[in-house]
Amino acid sequence: MINLILFGPPGSGKGTQSAFLIEKYNLEHLSTGNILREELANKTSLGILAQSFMDNGLLVPDDVIIGMVEKKLDEKANSVNGFIFDGFPRTIPQAQALDSLLLTKKMEINKVLSLQVSESNLINRLLQRAKIDGRADDTLETIKKRLNVYNSQTQQVAQYYLLKNKLANINGEGEIDQIKHLIAIEVDKL
Ligand code: AMP
Repeated sequence: MINLILFGPPGSGKGTQSAFLIEKYNLEHLSTGNILREELANKTSLGILAQSFMDNGLLVPDDVIIGMVEKKLDEKANSVNGFIFDGFPRTIPQAQALDSLLLTKKMEINKVLSLQVSESNLINRLLQRAKIDGRADDTLETIKKRLNVYNSQTQQVAQYYLLKNKLANINGEGEIDQIKHLIAIEVDKL
């Protein structure tokens, strides 16, 4: 069982690199953003609750997110080789809750891959993505808010895993294949 976290600000390539990791290591993708967007598309009460936070670039409350992840872990933990957590955890309470949830299943986080990309590149990438995916939260105003939220609430999660000796910083700029290669080197050390 390998459990990885793909960590980084919006636009750092977490989704792209998750796809690569899923295929190479046969892992289950657990993206809280994707789950929320699916809930929203299906107009569930969870989706409706999350919408105003998402549209405003704010974090959905921890208890909602943790409950959602717990449900996914319960559904899948017995039938997969491990998970890639993408866009989760985004706060220290989420990281602590994840550790506790995994412990109940005799699992743990093996490595946190932290993608490093400069802020100007992040903004350019997200504006490009807006043209392709049409995500409601990829407007310049909301992108700036999401980057502020990342800097003030999420960045500190890296320190949490650094103290546990689980953090690997990855240069997230340059060719996608080169970044894949850097990630694979880290995962293959496990
Ligand atoms: P993402 O696709 O990961 O960029 O997430 C899109 C939006 O969903 C975020 O801006 C938040 O509003 C919400 N979201 C996704 N994951 C989380 C999380 N772990 N904690 C709080 N909010 C989240």
